[in-house]
Amino acid sequence: MGAESSRSVDVVRRAACAAAVGLLVLFVLLQIRAMDHRPPASTSAFESTAVGTTTPTRWPACAIIHFVVDLRNAPKNASAVLSRNLRVVHSITGITFVAAGTTTQTAFDSYDESGAVVPVVFAWLEPRQLLGQSSVNAVTIPIVNATRTNYTSAVVLFNDDMNAAFEADPKFADNLVLHELGHVLGLANVNDPSQVMNYYLQPRTTVDAYASGDTTGLHRLYPGAQDCVHVSTTKVSGVAHNRVQPNGLIQQGIYRSALPKEKQWE
Ligand SMILES: [Zn+2]
Repeated sequence: MGAESSRSVDVVRRAACAAAVGLLVLFVLLQIRAMDHRPPASTSAFESTAVGTTTPTRWPACAIIHFVVDLRNAPKNASAVLSRNLRVVHSITGITFVAAGTTTQTAFDSYDESGAVVPVVFAWLEPRQLLGQSSVNAVTIPIVNATRTNYTSAVVLFNDDMNAAFEADPKFADNLVLHELGHVLGLANVNDPSQVMNYYLQPRTTVDAYASGDTTGLHRLYPGAQDCVHVSTTKVSGVAHNRVQPNGLIQQGIYRSALPKEKQWE
C-alpha cells in the first residue's frame, strides 16, 4: 500500500490498540467502530463532496469514460454482464463508457493526485489481491482530482472466488456490477437492503436493477442526462498510473453473504 494508505492503516491500528484497555471499554469501542462502518440509514448517499462544499463529487456531465479490463480470471459472462450494465448506467446518467482494451496490471498500490484522466480498470483478481479486503465480493476505489470536484478514474476489482455465483446467478452478477458502477459514479453504500447500493449483497438477492433510492442519487449527480449529445471524446492519458488511494476517500467494498464468523463490519 502507498504512504497515504499506510498512514491510515496505522491510525486504525493505534486506535484498536488503545481500545484494548479493559473488556468493557473494548466492547464499547467495538460498538462505536461498528457504527462508524455502517452506511447511513438512507436510500442513497454520496461517497465524497468537493472540498469546502456539500456538492457531491461527480464525473463531468455527459463524460466519456474510457475503461480497460483484465478478464484473465474473469467469469465467462463477465464481458456481457459488464456491457449490459454499462448501458443501464448510460441510460440513467448520460455517462458513456468506451472500451479501451485490456490490462494486465495487478498491483494497485501507489498514489498520484496529478488529476490526469486515466482509464477506469475492471479486473477479476484473487482474494489476496483485493487491497487487503479479501472477504469482499468486489472493491472499488474512486479516484478524484485535488479539489474533489470531479472523479478522474476508478479501480474496480472483483473477487474471482465469486465467479461460479457470477456465472450461475444473473441477479447476483447484475447486482454486483451495478453496485460497483454506483461507486464509480459517486454513490456510497446504504443500509437499505432493497437498494443495489446496500452494503451487503444479500444471499439469493432479488435486486438486479437500480431501485428508487439508487436512481434518485444518480439523478442528483447527473441531472442533465437526457441532454447528453457527444461530439468529441475526452483526452485520455496513455499512461495508466497506479493511482489508488484518492485524497482520503475510502475503498468501498460490497460484502458477500458471509459465514457467521466473517459477518462483521470490517
Ligand atoms: Zn459498496
